[in-house]
Amino acid sequence: MGNVKRKQVRAENGAMGSLHGLLAKYPDERSCERRLIEVRWPEGWSCPACGNDRCSPVADRNRAWQCTRCSRHLSVTAGTCTRASKVPLTKWFHAIWLCARSKRGVSAMELAAQVGVSENAARRMLVGVRGAMARPGCLRRSVG
Ligand SMILES: [Zn+2]
Repeated sequence: MGNVKRKQVRAENGAMGSLHGLLAKYPDERSCERRLIEVRWPEGWSCPACGNDRCSPVADRNRAWQCTRCSRHLSVTAGTCTRASKVPLTKWFHAIWLCARSKRGVSAMELAAQVGVSENAARRMLVGVRGAMARPGCLRRSVG
């Protein structure tokens, strides 16, 4: 009985999992940043200046991480559709999740209401997410 229920839930949620699961897995900016680092550097991050393989978040500065040896900064959002956006990464992840799940597409109005951003912000996010999803190695993996 328990197995059947679990299978049904998995079928309903598909490969992307549930929204509840997403929010539990990425509850804050730092957890999203960690995931972006994993996706951008699948073999593990390595400092281009000193070769060190450890970095840590800069206190009180979102999206800023630095090498633990030489303090060189790295931008976890550079090269992604979230760069230069003031929208929190948690909302970006929510938007990517919605777009990846939707078979018929997501409108800016729908995204704005679901994620909690303005319609203008939602429009910009959709352009970014659609562009990213069209590329190989896309951000769809970010929220997996
Ligand atoms: Zn370094």
